[in-house]
Parts: sequence; structure tokens; C-alpha cells
Amino acid sequence: MYDALTTRYTFACPSRGETSVPLSSFRRLERLEGTGHPVVYRVWFDCPCGQEHPGLVAHDDLDWAPLGFHAGPFLNLLTARIEEAGAEFGDASCRRIEAGEWPWSFFCYPEGRPRPVFPSSFFLLAPGGREARLGLAVRCPACEAMSLNLVSHEHVDLPFHNDAEIGVVEHVFAGDALLTMEQFHAELYSASFDARRLLLDDVA
Ligand SMILES: [Zn+2]
Ligand SMILES: [Zn+2]
Repeated sequence: MYDALTTRYTFACPSRGETSVPLSSFRRLERLEGTGHPVVYRVWFDCPCGQEHPGLVAHDDLDWAPLGFHAGPFLNLLTARIEEAGAEFGDASCRRIEAGEWPWSFFCYPEGRPRPVFPSSFFLLAPGGREARLGLAVRCPACEAMSLNLVSHEHVDLPFHNDAEIGVVEHVFAGDALLTMEQFHAELYSASFDARRLLLDDVA
């Protein structure tokens, strides 16, 4: 499902049979009602075939697999042996988190501060207006308010890659309002973005 070595998710594609895309190709994520063990997310992603398709991703694959906890076997070119990547990647991730680094982060506009986050809190993504950036709608895990950030693709695709500066839409969204894709696009293309420094030292 998720390949930690290529940082891509594999899905079914009606025209190609199978396709693999990075997290930044996801367009919409929603928690599938009635799932709990594990929680499953329904996602829609932009496929290289040019269409948008639905797919299912388990919570583990969304939040933990990118940290390497299920990387699986790989060929170690130094020892020429098949080794288990999971343990090594997982260890490295644990050490970085313990050292205060966060795999993903965003800027919570209502709170006026950067916050650590997991991909399961992302719910809309779209190519942004400027410099091939990515618009990202996040539901804050701390205050539950919505924020729109403008980030690089690497910011979402690569754990521990946090943009030094991200765009923030200066708009407080009504508490439980769920943005439609149309509203999201309108915000992305019309809103004034304020550049905020995403200094993770600020994350308590
Ligand atoms: Zn396709
Ligand atoms: Zn918040």
C-alpha cells in the first residue's frame, strides 16, 4: 500500500490497473464512517492517467507507514543482503521525534502558531496558485479549527521535511464548516497569503 522507499501509495486505476502516487497527489481525505479497528480513510487522488480516482487508506498507512514502521524488506547494497528496513527507519524516526523534530507540521491561523500534525488531519489538497505550491486544508488536532496553508510538495510527501516558511490564508473559518472543493479553490486563488515562519522551536 505505502512504500517507504519511494514514499508512494499504490492504488487501483481503472485504465492502468495499478498506479502509485505521493501524498501530495491526494485531493480529498475523509474518515470512513463505521470504521474503527483500524480507522480507514476514503481518499480521492490525482492519477498520472489524468483522472481522479477514489481509494482507501488505513490510518496506519497514512500516519505511521511514512515514518518507516512498515517499510518491509530491502536489498542492502553494502552487505548485499536482504534486510528488514522497518526497524531501522522506525528507530531513526523515533529518535528524531524524541529530539523534538516533527514529521509534519502546519501553521494554525486561529491560534497564531505552528503545530505538529499527522496526515490524517489533512482533508483537502490542491495545486496552489504560486510557484508550483500545494494548498493544504488542515483540521487542527489541538483546537479543531481549520487552516489553509500553502506549502511545498516535499512538506507533505517527506516526513521531517518542514518548509522554513509557508503561506497562511488569513481567514478564520466557522468552527464546523467543511470546505467544499470549490470554496477551497476560491480561497487558494483569491486569498491573501501571509508568509509565516514555521519555526518548530515554537512548538511546545
Ligand atoms: Zn488512473
Ligand atoms: Zn489550532
